[in-house]
Amino acid sequence: MNSVPSASGPAISLKNVSREYGAIKAVDNVSLEIAAGSFVALVGLSGSGKSTLLKMINRLVDPSAGKVLIAGENVKVADPHVLRRRIGYVFQNIGLFPHMTIARNIAIGLELAGEKNGRRERVMELLELVELPKEMASRMAHQLSGGQQQRVGVARALATRPGLMLMDEPFGALDPVTRDSLAGQYKALHEKLGLTTIIVTHDMAEALYLADRILVMEGGQIKADATPAELLSGGVGDEAEALVAIPRAQAAHLIALSKKT
Ligand code: ADP
Ligand code: MG
Repeated sequence: MNSVPSASGPAISLKNVSREYGAIKAVDNVSLEIAAGSFVALVGLSGSGKSTLLKMINRLVDPSAGKVLIAGENVKVADPHVLRRRIGYVFQNIGLFPHMTIARNIAIGLELAGEKNGRRERVMELLELVELPKEMASRMAHQLSGGQQQRVGVARALATRPGLMLMDEPFGALDPVTRDSLAGQYKALHEKLGLTTIIVTHDMAEALYLADRILVMEGGQIKADATPAELLSGGVGDEAEALVAIPRAQAAHLIALSKKT
């Protein structure tokens, strides 16, 4: 059941947002309303502008034109420190600090925010939330598997209790089994915490499984905007159709194989 979350996550609004790099229009006049508490997947081929779009929400990239609002507030006028605390950011190969313990890696946002009290307790709570054993707190980052490091990345992003999570191919570098279980656990976290989540993935199967709304990007534009059910029933455009065809063909192949045995 996709229960309606008691959203603490903010609504996001993009108004005619573009970003150019020389002659390249990485993002081309995108307007978008994302409801509080939704789980949105941004899908598309490499170079279609997904990461650029995501980074304009947390101001890692500034738009060449247009504006981005979080809970009605223009990110351009928000205090960048406050903004960063309100937005969790997880990306591929999360880049934990190798010479720091897991506890310090998780608490780094709290440390930067000058929060001194209760950091240890918060780290323990976060380890539990991402289903890592508490003993991991004192380990060094390089002593963890890729999947465990990504869990730490999620814990770190959640440390300052953001309402919005931006995830850029967060599970992309993991083996399929680890990836699947992490994705499922993240989805549960999203619902439990009432987050607004935007995830970038090139994997349509992952998007169909995770999100309640899927945006298909191509050439910096949003070519389809649909629920997983709508995407699967077709008629939402060639770009979306091409991406859905892949998991569909894989599923058909598996069914055909299983009938032979
Ligand atoms: P995606 O995440 O979908 O793979 P990106 O948003 O990374 O796509 O890139 C979209 C387009 O913008 C690509 O053509 C890419 O080469 C270009 N681009 C992205 N970032 C930069 C940059 N910092 N400088 C120049 N071109 C960039
Ligand atoms: Mg990208």
